[in-house]
Amino acid sequence: MAPQREWLERDFYADLGVSSDATADQIKKAYRKLARELHPDANPGDTAAEERFKRVSEASSVLSDETKRKEYDEARTLMSSGRFTGGGGGFGGGGYSGGGAGGFDIGDLFGGGNAGGGGGFGDLFGDLLGGRGGAGAAGGGTRQRRGNDLETETTVAFRDAVQGAKVSLRVTSPSPCTKCHGSGAKPGTSPRTCPTCNGSAYVTRNQGHFGFSEPCPDCQGTGTKIDDPCPDCQGSGITVRPRTINVRVPQGVEDGQRIRLAGQGEAGMRGAPSGDLYVTVHVLADKVFTRTGNDLRVELPVSIAELVLGATVSVPTLDGSVGVKIPAGTSDGRTLRLKGRGVPKRSGGSGDLLVTVKVAVPTKLDDAATAAMKQYAEAERASGFDPRANWGR
Ligand SMILES: [Zn+2]
Ligand SMILES: [Zn+2]
Repeated sequence: MAPQREWLERDFYADLGVSSDATADQIKKAYRKLARELHPDANPGDTAAEERFKRVSEASSVLSDETKRKEYDEARTLMSSGRFTGGGGGFGGGGYSGGGAGGFDIGDLFGGGNAGGGGGFGDLFGDLLGGRGGAGAAGGGTRQRRGNDLETETTVAFRDAVQGAKVSLRVTSPSPCTKCHGSGAKPGTSPRTCPTCNGSAYVTRNQGHFGFSEPCPDCQGTGTKIDDPCPDCQGSGITVRPRTINVRVPQGVEDGQRIRLAGQGEAGMRGAPSGDLYVTVHVLADKVFTRTGNDLRVELPVSIAELVLGATVSVPTLDGSVGVKIPAGTSDGRTLRLKGRGVPKRSGGSGDLLVTVKVAVPTKLDDAATAAMKQYAEAERASGFDPRANWGR
């Protein structure tokens, strides 16, 4: 990642531990104090301190310069105002990579991987935010505003998550208008190229050192003008309606995982590409199994006799049951591993089934069983078995 992108994401005030309305004097003091504490000479070999020292120096170099600080503040205000975030949709035509899970990527957002390089602070943001006419135009053609991403969730049964399942999602969201097929123009007519932006959908506004590229106000960032709007969608090409989306939940999905369905998000204006749909999958607990990655766990209740004498016991599996041999003399709490009886892996094969034996102690025995138990206890003592032999008394 080029350093330029990081600058806007960085909070220089937090780096220095001052508030955003700190005076120049407070900033200077905070920097001096931190610089003394973190200076590499004072912390030989401490790479974390060194890293912080660099950050603090960088923060100070911007915030202690009145002009740079103003530019930094303005750029951050614009960022956080949501002006450039487009509600999550982002602007990048060809360059847009689809958001991903964590936060947005400024580079993607402003279209075009700006080519770093040295340069001062002014250049820095100029590259980042402006420059649509330059590098940004490389993609060519119309850069329409992509539709927003959409979030939804679904809940599946434990076994469906393990084995994979088909799920129907009901989503009510902006969708392409069926009457005009998303063009926004009354059927029989067609949109024309916006004269203000020549169809590029963006205009450049200059402010201080920055050239801000923003959606064309004349055509609302669509690149087209419509003389005869479609009556159903009033020219937007979008109507809000419920849709049913059939989703294949991949086998082995874990609770809380997100699935991305490309192009299933909100429709873009006037036929622009749709955003993506992110589905968070919740997995219900199972009565028998718990799961760790591709391994399944099951607790197997056994009698004392089964542990002492050994036994073959039927254990549930995902697709039925399997006979498990408990060796004579197995300790309570021991875990037996059944290879390949766990969750199928996407790469082939399966995880294991881990069977933990847990002794079930009878609370009520009939006379015969009680008598036999007493007899057994005596015989056990006589044979020299001492359960607390390890205590070494
Ligand atoms: Zn329409
Ligand atoms: Zn325009």
